[in-house]
Amino acid sequence: MTLPDTCPCGLGEPYDECCGKYHRGAEPPSAELLMRARYSAYVVGDRKFLLRTWHDKTKPRALTLEADQNWQGLTILASEGGGLFDGEGVVEFQARFVTDGRSGRMHDRSRFLKVGGAWRYVDEV
Ligand SMILES: [Zn+2]
Repeated sequence: MTLPDTCPCGLGEPYDECCGKYHRGAEPPSAELLMRARYSAYVVGDRKFLLRTWHDKTKPRALTLEADQNWQGLTILASEGGGLFDGEGVVEFQARFVTDGRSGRMHDRSRFLKVGGAWRYVDEV
């Protein structure tokens, strides 16, 4: 897949300077930025990043990305904790997608924990 110029996460920055740098190995400094970077990873098909930023307790052994799920955009609705001095964070979001020619919405609250100074995705709450 070709990489996008503008980051898919919704911040409007160039991909390279936004979630691209996290996909290349930097650690997102907040739970919300990890949430955005994980959404972007679904868009660009970066399975390695998704697995790397998954908490060890809940990480799947393998991850298959659905090729026909066409992500359309991410909206962060609310964010609790997840900052520099927090150990836990919850991010509520809505993601829009088109699959089989139909549009859908995913609305969830993702929980993140800081492990050794790096944010990791745990589960939905
Ligand atoms: Zn981004």
